[in-house]
Amino acid sequence: MAQYAGFNTTAIHAGQEPDPLTGAVIPPIYQTSTFVQDGINVLRAGHEYSRGSNPTRNGFETQLAALERGTAAFAFASGLAAEDALLRAVLRPGDHVVLGGDGYGGTNRLINGLLGPWGVANTAVDITDLAAVAAAVRPGNTAVLWVETPSNPLLGIADLAGWAKVAHAAGALLVVDNTFASPYLQRPLDWGADVVVHSTTKYIGGHSDVLGGAVVVADRSFRGRELAETVGYQQFAGGAVAGPQDCYLAARGLKTLGLRMERHTSNAQSLAEWLQDQPGVAEVLYPGLPGHPGHALAARQMTGFGGIVSVRFDGGAPAARAFAESTRLFALSVSLGGVESLICYCSEMTHASVRGTELAVPVDLVRLSVGVEDLADLQEDLAGALERTHERFADAVVLNR
Ligand SMILES: *Cc1c(COP(=O)(O)O)cnc(C)c1O
Repeated sequence: MAQYAGFNTTAIHAGQEPDPLTGAVIPPIYQTSTFVQDGINVLRAGHEYSRGSNPTRNGFETQLAALERGTAAFAFASGLAAEDALLRAVLRPGDHVVLGGDGYGGTNRLINGLLGPWGVANTAVDITDLAAVAAAVRPGNTAVLWVETPSNPLLGIADLAGWAKVAHAAGALLVVDNTFASPYLQRPLDWGADVVVHSTTKYIGGHSDVLGGAVVVADRSFRGRELAETVGYQQFAGGAVAGPQDCYLAARGLKTLGLRMERHTSNAQSLAEWLQDQPGVAEVLYPGLPGHPGHALAARQMTGFGGIVSVRFDGGAPAARAFAESTRLFALSVSLGGVESLICYCSEMTHASVRGTELAVPVDLVRLSVGVEDLADLQEDLAGALERTHERFADAVVLNR
């Protein structure tokens, strides 16, 4: 594969070369389960059966591996399928995982609900406290450290180089969920991570029209085998692969990732700054704000602050819930990372599975996935929603005084 210097050039061309047979500039979607053999086990281009390999999937995997600067990438049917395959590939019963506490609810459910009964223990930690991370490691027993940065939905920033140091001192792997930043804004493998996982459903697909996940590995061995070989075997033997139509959509989205992330970031920065000054808003969580505790670290570790903004309200849960139900352009919905703006009341939607636990999300918080629409329209929508929220709670606010 050709190597290109620029991110966007790589995104558009790596693994996406024109079809050699017909000259089609866009490689065709290989919608096939099996491949004809010219003799027993005489394969034309190495393809036998689409669970093992499929050109559309492989093209997307090459494209994503190049962008994350990994050795290899593996595409799965969803982000959680990717996470599950990775964890079952590298963990053994009895192993221990150090898990960033502020993360995707589904990852927590996977590790506790599915892997727990198979004998995998975990300890949740504050991702911003490296001393706590190190203290949670059980020497000789901890096999994986797992972190998400920026985190979901509190937008905490983890020091990736610091986490990598702790992981490697313990002989463990550092896995980073890079869904929120995307490789355009952050490349965890460059900071020492061993594995990156993605929900490609989000920014990589970018248009809210496909589910997918991916694992990208660095050139490293673990338990005596190359990571690429270990995860590749799990993908083939476990079989939770992404189909060719889904890989085509993810690959198409990935080509414009850079353009989209620039716009998501600039819209999010402007809205975060504006929201800070609005009455009824208690706090805006966005790493691009100078007052954010992870601002300096994010500025060092990322090339932009991303498109997710969380907002906390003076009026508590009632105000946050009312606001989430009052926007017209921002659609009330789980998920994130598409071109259209979404709003989510996390404690009862995405993070309902951790309600009532120490990992519960604040009830006064809403999360915005800021899309790439025109800024003025987005701001007008939020202003209208704030107004309607205040109207609903005017009496309550007076009572609180
Ligand atoms: C959505 C999401 C996942 C899970 O991905 P699916 O494609 O929904 O299975 C994992 N991590 C993060 C950060 C996510 O936002």
